[in-house]
Amino acid sequence: MPGMNVKKGDTVKVIAGKDKGKQGEIIRSVPKKGRVVVEKVNIVKKAVRPTQSNPQGGITSMEAPLDVSNVMLVCPSCKSATRVGHRFKEDGSKVRVCKKCGKDID
Ligand SMILES: [Zn+2]
Repeated sequence: MPGMNVKKGDTVKVIAGKDKGKQGEIIRSVPKKGRVVVEKVNIVKKAVRPTQSNPQGGITSMEAPLDVSNVMLVCPSCKSATRVGHRFKEDGSKVRVCKKCGKDID
């Protein structure tokens, strides 16, 4: 299974699919399936049953998961969509590194 180079809270750019070019923050990740849910990306309409907070039920819009291979991390330092590298810090922990500007991402 390929590792996920992105995680919840990251800003990513969509590079394939109907929302190609959009950017958003990852609000949920599903590492087992290699999928992420990105804010305001891949919106689908869904019928919902009435609940206490929404007694009417009806149709709601929500973000559907998309494949992690369809997004690229947007580097917080250089704001470019970039591939992610890794390096080990002095204490042995692993950090993600922007392949464009070389800055640590975590
Ligand atoms: Zn960068």
